[in-house]
Amino acid sequence: MANLPPTQYNRPPPSPNFRPMQNTEPNQPIQRGPSPYRPQPPGPGGASPNQRPVTDPRQQLSPLGRPYTPPGPPNVHSRPPPPGVSPSPPLPANFRPQPPSSNVPPSGVAPVGFSQGIASQMRPPMSPGYRPVHIQPSYPVQQTSGSGYQVTQLNSASPPPVESPVPPTENRATSPSAGTHKSKRLYPKQINEAYTETNTYQTFTPAAASNITGQQPLHPQHQPQYFTPAGDQNYTPMAPPVPSPYNQQYTQQQQQSSMTALTNQFSNMGVGGLSQAHLTSVNLIGMPPSVKDLDDPPPTINLPPNTSVTPSDKANCDPSYKRSTLNAIPATSSLLSKSRLPLGLIITPYRSLKEGDDPVPVVTDTIIARCRRCRSYINPFVTFAEGGQKWRCNMCFLLNDVPPQFDWDIQTNQQADRWKRAELNHAVVEFVAPTEYMVRPPQPPVYLFIIDVSYPAVQSGAVATAARTILESLDRIPNEENRTKIGFITVDTSLHFYSLNSSASVPQMLVVSDLEDVFLPQPDDLLVNLMESRSVVESLLRSLGDMFKDTQIVGNALGSALLAGFKLISPIGGKIVVLQSSLPNINPGALKPREDPKSLGTPKESVLLQSADPFYKKFAVDCSRSQVCVDMFLLGSQYSDVATLGCCPRYTGGQTYFYPAFNAGRSEDALKFAHEFAEFLASPIALEAVIRVRASKGIRMTAFHGNFFVRQTDLLALPNVSRDHSYTIEVGIEENITTPTVCFQTALLHTTCFGERRIRVLTLALPVTNSISELFVSADQVAITTLLANKAVERSLSSKLEDARDALTNKMIDILGVYKSTLTSSQSGASPQLQICDNLKLLPLLSLGLLKHVGLRASSQIPTDLRSYAMCLLTTMPSQLLIPYLHPRFYSLHNMSQEVGTYGSEGTIMPEPLNLSSEKLERHGAYLLEDSQNIFIWIGRQVSPQLCIDLLDARSYEEIRTGKVSLPQLDNAFSQRVNAIIGKTREMRRGVYYPHLYIVKEDGDPSLRLWFLSHIIEDRTDTVMSYHQWLAHLKDKVNSGSF
Ligand SMILES: [Zn+2]
Repeated sequence: MANLPPTQYNRPPPSPNFRPMQNTEPNQPIQRGPSPYRPQPPGPGGASPNQRPVTDPRQQLSPLGRPYTPPGPPNVHSRPPPPGVSPSPPLPANFRPQPPSSNVPPSGVAPVGFSQGIASQMRPPMSPGYRPVHIQPSYPVQQTSGSGYQVTQLNSASPPPVESPVPPTENRATSPSAGTHKSKRLYPKQINEAYTETNTYQTFTPAAASNITGQQPLHPQHQPQYFTPAGDQNYTPMAPPVPSPYNQQYTQQQQQSSMTALTNQFSNMGVGGLSQAHLTSVNLIGMPPSVKDLDDPPPTINLPPNTSVTPSDKANCDPSYKRSTLNAIPATSSLLSKSRLPLGLIITPYRSLKEGDDPVPVVTDTIIARCRRCRSYINPFVTFAEGGQKWRCNMCFLLNDVPPQFDWDIQTNQQADRWKRAELNHAVVEFVAPTEYMVRPPQPPVYLFIIDVSYPAVQSGAVATAARTILESLDRIPNEENRTKIGFITVDTSLHFYSLNSSASVPQMLVVSDLEDVFLPQPDDLLVNLMESRSVVESLLRSLGDMFKDTQIVGNALGSALLAGFKLISPIGGKIVVLQSSLPNINPGALKPREDPKSLGTPKESVLLQSADPFYKKFAVDCSRSQVCVDMFLLGSQYSDVATLGCCPRYTGGQTYFYPAFNAGRSEDALKFAHEFAEFLASPIALEAVIRVRASKGIRMTAFHGNFFVRQTDLLALPNVSRDHSYTIEVGIEENITTPTVCFQTALLHTTCFGERRIRVLTLALPVTNSISELFVSADQVAITTLLANKAVERSLSSKLEDARDALTNKMIDILGVYKSTLTSSQSGASPQLQICDNLKLLPLLSLGLLKHVGLRASSQIPTDLRSYAMCLLTTMPSQLLIPYLHPRFYSLHNMSQEVGTYGSEGTIMPEPLNLSSEKLERHGAYLLEDSQNIFIWIGRQVSPQLCIDLLDARSYEEIRTGKVSLPQLDNAFSQRVNAIIGKTREMRRGVYYPHLYIVKEDGDPSLRLWFLSHIIEDRTDTVMSYHQWLAHLKDKVNSGSF
């Protein structure tokens, strides 16, 4: 049991010599918090391990090692002012370190610019409410020293909140307003260049250009025979454009297009490209699911010929950015509801690029053609008219002017080939935004760390590990333009700020113990430019691990720290990174250890999965308005209330990371956290972002899932867009669709880490169908599962887990029932078979995986924190991560063929995945199972001793150490191959996750064994049926017509 997560938390005695990173006693039993899997009932005594009160303020002792003023009881509102001292009121709530005018007064002087009433509440800096430690005799409140960013901000008008980032109705091409451009430094290079170009550029017209450059006239003298529809109503937007002499290349490309189209026509035989012939039914009963097909691509999108204006093979959206649950859209709402198939989009707009991935092409000339009416961006599915001077919007069919500079290359100052423009060739494209898309200069990246330094945080090694990881990541934090700002607040029962003035050699700690009315102890140097203050930041991070090593304080005032952090960074926006090891227990935002084992598995469980305190959601909404994102790293050894603290990331575009029973003394824990935290810090992020999804007429977005705040009906606000986060949108058909195709366009307006305002546009075109068989044959089982997972989480939180499971089961019965009654010969009669089309054959398996997942499973043994965290992952993971999370990959190691684990043309050769059935487990076998969050190696009882030696450096089965381990890298081929498979597994998964590795012995620790077996979802487990029972259940329901 030594390496297993614990069932009982005992606080170890404080050790003055504790060095969290040096606790290398591998066999020492470690006292830990609740089991992260706990398939077993609670341990002896039956009591929840989480009931021990986290703190008693009266126990606080004066910590050693730093100058210290007793913080007083946390209940500060009852604390009387010191005798004879008239307590200075706090700084006004709206006090900001960078007020719009530089009105920061010298000590004790009322500031200019505040009203009399507010000024009278100013707390002089040396008031008793804050206590500088390492006191400099007089700490002067300094005037803004100011980075380039700050200066510019001061010069500009007070930055308006980014409430209406939707640009003005005209694009820059038609209404340039050079007068609005003030700062050269802050705008993209291209914009500055554009405005410093010669008059030739500024007064450019195509006609003039042709005279100046001697190029052929852009538009021919004779009118081309363009197809011009009489009006929108009769217009068939997908009619192939008529070739014209407008552009020779165009003609050539059209010819190519026609050839492609002809080929498509022959292969597809019909508009929409789909036909009954492609509907291949599969009987599910009696057959093991074909799990290797989980990696198959989604059904092909068969667009009518010439739907795209260019023949580019990138004209339609790659599923890794955006995929639809149905790759053919029903023409009517009634057809959609008749099919019972869910319609929705899975969007991962800011996905990471792996080796070999194409980068997103960037349109740098800031010529952005948008529809005047629906504001869609020009894309490969528009059509041109009137000699190429107009383009017809493929969403609302309005005829728009082509911007004059659309065919002009600003680099060479010459006419350019329109058909090479990225936005006409690529469904995924990024525009450098002109200033109309900015309500203020692009913000710099800002990282404010709020670090829990209470006793449990220090004892677990979380503080030291976090500090070291930040220190080692300083060069990886996005900071291309040296504008990145950084700040730190540490918190126990007081708040500690750090003055990081670049001229100081060591940081200065400023302690604030007034937690009720949080204020910033000084206006400057709490948030500093990382490059300028690098040495003092490093100094702080080097000492942070030891600074609190002898603390005895067990309280935590996270809520106050968040409010303080908000005050500090909200004038700019940015990221608050919380590293929390204990349950906040001081108001505001105080939480109680509310986990109740008796309510697990009952309808009351949902209450525990909901937020316990509205403080965090309200705070998150405030953050969203000020472009502040919160990410939570929860490292608690006890109950952490993931459900409540997870609200902050959920509404601000952040993410929750959970490390149950974290103990840095265990190298695997330290490695996992440090790896994930470092990757998180190094990830590029998109700042001050909004996402809007537009669709063709007749289609409406009905619901949104993921981490953001819905600001308007269809506008998602994300202070930060995290890499590889997925968002799920439910779609409804409002009016009958009469066009042969429809489009969905997602626009992500954001600021890059390097200070450019950009718009990433994803355009997905799909055919429209009136045929239910075409709907089924176009259905994407992976996207459907992703959507159903999101809906199930929502249902669990708004209602009950049981309702979510029932809804999922009913959805499967409905889909299979409709398929049987409309698309098979058995129709209404009872059938011994359960049929579905080939492309949906794994949907019942994936839905069973969801029903058995730790986030949704019927069980009275799953700790609330684990469920809540699973729900965070289920609603944010891209499909590529989510599918193995629901249906783990399972490989056998002992009998893998020679080439497996060696390096092939596509990297490490992986084994064939096995079905998740215990029938596959041979006594003499060794297996690997991976669900993107954890990796297990299962060792059978009769395993060959040689395998034990080669893989685990153990002489026999009996000697194998189980639990969380690092797999040794041994000097033999088998060890190297298995390590290569694990390395490839970690590399394959998107996101920052670094799975733990557990060794499980067949007759080893029962709880670990059961945890492993809970992933074997084709087996019967606990109360949930086996795969074959599940199919039989579905078949009975379908046969009885109960759908
Ligand atoms: Zn339009």
